[in-house]
Amino acid sequence: MQFNTYTVAGAHIAVWLVNHPAPDAPTLAAVLRGYDVHEPEPTADETLAVRSWAMRLRQIFESPTVENKAELTDALLVAADCRPRLVSHGPGQPFHFHYAPVLTGLAARVRALTAAGLAHVIDGGAGARLRVCSRAGCEVAFIDTSRNGRRHFCSVRCANQVNVANHRHRQRQVSSPAPR
Ligand SMILES: [Zn+2]
Ligand SMILES: [Zn+2]
Repeated sequence: MQFNTYTVAGAHIAVWLVNHPAPDAPTLAAVLRGYDVHEPEPTADETLAVRSWAMRLRQIFESPTVENKAELTDALLVAADCRPRLVSHGPGQPFHFHYAPVLTGLAARVRALTAAGLAHVIDGGAGARLRVCSRAGCEVAFIDTSRNGRRHFCSVRCANQVNVANHRHRQRQVSSPAPR
């Protein structure tokens, strides 16, 4: 599955929100603009509404099975009142999906876009790639876009920390005398 299309942009926005659950309005606007979201500047109320949505998004990444993730994401589609439409922004402009009308306000559009993005990832057979870092205490969410789909850490840093800890653990087991 392709992870860099506009179709799954909502999944990447979801990851960002899970990892930045209390953004201020300018930061949120900048991130949304980076994903070509229309009129991305949230009001104060919309910023708060997006924050509470981020907590629901986290559950998808933390749930253990694809079945769980799919059930939760399906519930998000309903909660977000996701209604895909084909929209063009002017003559000759490309048609693309909008998941909620611009008039519904930014928070509603972010809810619909993130729910749809996660749903597309699961629909594409990549639900198991919606993960949180395996290093205890890290909790950073990510989409595993690696070719083999076996990435379990959010960063090289977390992977190295766990590898070093495992290595020390093994060394201790080898060097300490067996208990009698
Ligand atoms: Zn558009
Ligand atoms: Zn991590």
